[in-house]
Amino acid sequence: MSNKYGFNTLALHAGAEIDETNSRGLPLHRTSSYVFNSTTHAADLFALKELGNIYTRLMNPTHGVLEERMAALDGGAAALAVASGTAATFYAVINICGHGDEVVSANNLYGGTYTMFDSILPELGIKTKFENPLDPDNFEKVINEHTKMLFTEVIGNPVLDVANIGAISEVAHRHHIPLVVDSTFNTPYLFRPLEHGADVVIHSLTKWLGGHGTGIGGIVVDSGKFDWTDRKFRLYNEPDASYHGLRFAHDLGDLNPLAFIMRMRLVPLRNLGACISPDNAWMFLQGIETLPLRMQRHCDNAMEIALYLTDHPAVKWVRYPGLEQDPAYEMASRQFENGFGGMVVFGIKGGREAGETFINNLALISHLANVGDAKTLAIHPASTTHSQLSEDQQLEGGITPDLIRLSVGIESVEDIHGDIGQALDKTK
Ligand SMILES: *Cc1c(COP(=O)(O)O)cnc(C)c1O
Repeated sequence: MSNKYGFNTLALHAGAEIDETNSRGLPLHRTSSYVFNSTTHAADLFALKELGNIYTRLMNPTHGVLEERMAALDGGAAALAVASGTAATFYAVINICGHGDEVVSANNLYGGTYTMFDSILPELGIKTKFENPLDPDNFEKVINEHTKMLFTEVIGNPVLDVANIGAISEVAHRHHIPLVVDSTFNTPYLFRPLEHGADVVIHSLTKWLGGHGTGIGGIVVDSGKFDWTDRKFRLYNEPDASYHGLRFAHDLGDLNPLAFIMRMRLVPLRNLGACISPDNAWMFLQGIETLPLRMQRHCDNAMEIALYLTDHPAVKWVRYPGLEQDPAYEMASRQFENGFGGMVVFGIKGGREAGETFINNLALISHLANVGDAKTLAIHPASTTHSQLSEDQQLEGGITPDLIRLSVGIESVEDIHGDIGQALDKTK
């Protein structure tokens, strides 16, 4: 499908073609495996002489539509859908780094990603240096000959700071290292990191892309532009024993620019197995059809809620990248299109106790550990997601006892105000 179409059109059509059944709704391929035409056909598929369906862990036509659609929306060359945003991040890292290699990462990450980098990857011999991403020089200072990738989120945790992706990608490319960006909080409707120099983008499909809080999934989108032939990228330059000595950066012919996604499919996904299900891929595609409409409403509602909280006497502080006085406003308005996202965080007067009272008195808004649902969600991180940390560790991560995190949904905005207002009144 032509990428000359506009974003709204691509969200509805990219990657999908009408098949022989003429169905307008997207067909869902609930199958684990595919019949070979002959023994030669089977042998050619296994030897990569021909690309085609073998087994759904590796590929499935429904996954293929999701992958093509997301590659089109993010302006990438190819994509790979997997079982979760977490699996997407893990496979992206181990598709670049092995034992002895280092990652330089932002320190204000999604909690699960921080734990992966801080305590799981070291067991595999991959070390991470955590730095404040707001000054790209912090990254440059700690790069050494072992560094194989830079990693950041666009909108950070917990106070929604915004990283300068263009400047960080310049640091990465000065050292010939890829920049991998988790853009879950933006979605391509607000920001496309590949257009700002990032090499690989990760999304949790679980959040705004799926948009309805009904399933878990993740995707990795590759620009196809990074040059993997540098010998420091061992995984692309040394012969792969499981593919008759194939070197991914050299031996794929016309597909060499897709080396990153090809390798991720054929090595981590094939052999570690965190594949998405066809049903979830289909469901995420339904969500993506309306992404532009939903995301615009999320942004509009979040802006109104941020302004409402700013003026509320029970509220001590508010962070939203769309507020002109916010420290992230300048960077956000320079990079983002269409709005500033659906997340708002604020502090309640009265600290932890008031935070708990507020949460316990919400009626419309759901108290749960997710973001990016069409319905408004709230959480008090100090007593939930970050409760295993000591108060000092919480403060170090910016989790103040009074902090409330809102994922603003697409309800009638006066009803969101109303619920927040009545719950805030109970904290006085
Ligand atoms: C939710 C989330 C993840 C993890 O995604 P899952 O689909 O829950 O595994 C990673 N990064 C960010 C920014 C997230 O919000």
